[in-house]
Amino acid sequence: MNESRRNLLKLGGIAVAMIPVAAFAAKNDAMRTAMKYKDTPDGDKKCSGCMHFVPGKSPTDLGGCKLFPGDTEVTPNGSCTAWAKKP
Ligand code: SF4
Repeated sequence: MNESRRNLLKLGGIAVAMIPVAAFAAKNDAMRTAMKYKDTPDGDKKCSGCMHFVPGKSPTDLGGCKLFPGDTEVTPNGSCTAWAKKP
């Protein structure tokens, strides 16, 4: 087997190995930008107190947001312009 073919196969293996990571951790950059999302609270407004937040496994884990489809990296301490108090 020549060198370039071996390298190509190696690269393929790396690409396949990265798929699960991409499937489980994702950011919805379009919605984050549109809603001016940031990883810090806006005064006392933070994702953990927002009706759109989808909590992670524990109260401090990253979670999701109903307004950011596919996003799995929303921090409970984040905030954005769509914040709405949890009922
Ligand atoms: S709408 Fe904004 S503040 Fe509310 S959970 Fe989603 S990202 Fe956080």
